[in-house]
Amino acid sequence: MNHGFETLAIHAGQEPDPTTGAVIPPIYQTSTYAQDAVGQPRQGYEYSRTANPTRDALQECLAALEGGRRALAFASGLAAEDTLLRTVCQPGDHVVIPDDAYGGTYRLFARVAQRWGLDWTAASIHSVDAVREAITDRTKIVWVETPTNPLLGIADIAALAQVAHDRGALLVVDNTFASPYLQQPLHLGADVVVHSTTKYVGGHSDVVGGALVGIDEELMQNLAYHQNAMGAVAGPFDSWLTLRGIKTLGVRMDRHCDNAEKVVEFLQRHKAVAQVLYPGLPEHHGHEIAAKQMKRYGGMVSFRASGGEEHAVEICNRAKLFVLGESLGGVESLIEHPGRMTHASAAGSPLEVPSDLVRLSVGIETIDDLLADLEQALAR
Ligand SMILES: *Cc1c(COP(=O)(O)O)cnc(C)c1O
Repeated sequence: MNHGFETLAIHAGQEPDPTTGAVIPPIYQTSTYAQDAVGQPRQGYEYSRTANPTRDALQECLAALEGGRRALAFASGLAAEDTLLRTVCQPGDHVVIPDDAYGGTYRLFARVAQRWGLDWTAASIHSVDAVREAITDRTKIVWVETPTNPLLGIADIAALAQVAHDRGALLVVDNTFASPYLQQPLHLGADVVVHSTTKYVGGHSDVVGGALVGIDEELMQNLAYHQNAMGAVAGPFDSWLTLRGIKTLGVRMDRHCDNAEKVVEFLQRHKAVAQVLYPGLPEHHGHEIAAKQMKRYGGMVSFRASGGEEHAVEICNRAKLFVLGESLGGVESLIEHPGRMTHASAAGSPLEVPSDLVRLSVGIETIDDLLADLEQALAR
């Protein structure tokens, strides 16, 4: 379908049901399918780990939104990552990961994959040279997140694709923070896009899921083989919820961005705030690259409290409308202290975050209410 983003979000993979005309793809809550004769499954469906029509609808839609040839939906973002790693890498191989990767991604490499013989180097992916130096002859994957969590660092996807490809490695981009509405890494040279669909793609904090999207037919077939062989698939109801969320992805992202921009403006003027981290700010180190590869700058905002760690914790505890909690990307605003919450396990590692940092996932509530809540939380 050669349509715009919003049209694809609503229609790709979502033709009215052929049997009843139902406008919304049904939740095919079934594990198995009646076969017409031995060896003749109807429309190719045999067993729901291998394929399920609701999951197929989601996969087709995700592929369309990222400009990929094929997408695969998993039970969580980490399940998608694990499947990708064990499809592409073998013991003795090496991967380059961001030195401020999502905590769970770091843990997957450092505490799980490493025990199975996968070697890794954490590099500052904001520097193309640092990534080039970290690549070895055994490097199979250069793993990138942009923007990063929680420091909102930016990596140059097109430049890193070149660097990875020069050494025969794949460029994998975790596009969770931007969503395909703001950034489409496959168009910039990335080989595989990873999503935690739990976040903006689902968008309503009601389902955990993940996805892999790619262009290369052979790689995608191999990943699909492993999706079935390893089994961490998205269930029919989870697929349906995610697909329901996707329909409004474009309008939600625009409102997330509108609200985040106003929150940034407010925080910058506030004396309780020492520094605001947002790629939309001209003084942000990655602003120019973000401007080149993103449509807008997203709904995530981090800032450093002028009164240090205790002050940062106090702000988080005092917020009311901003719900104190982990995760991000839902319609409701969330606040958290990465040092003691999402990134507590990174303490003492290269991924440790500043202790005075506060992270906001700016939701789509009425902006005046969000600013009033921040005002009372920041007052000393
Ligand atoms: C949440 C998240 C993940 C992990 O996804 P789950 O769905 O929680 O397994 C990976 N990458 C990023 C950037 C995330 O925010």
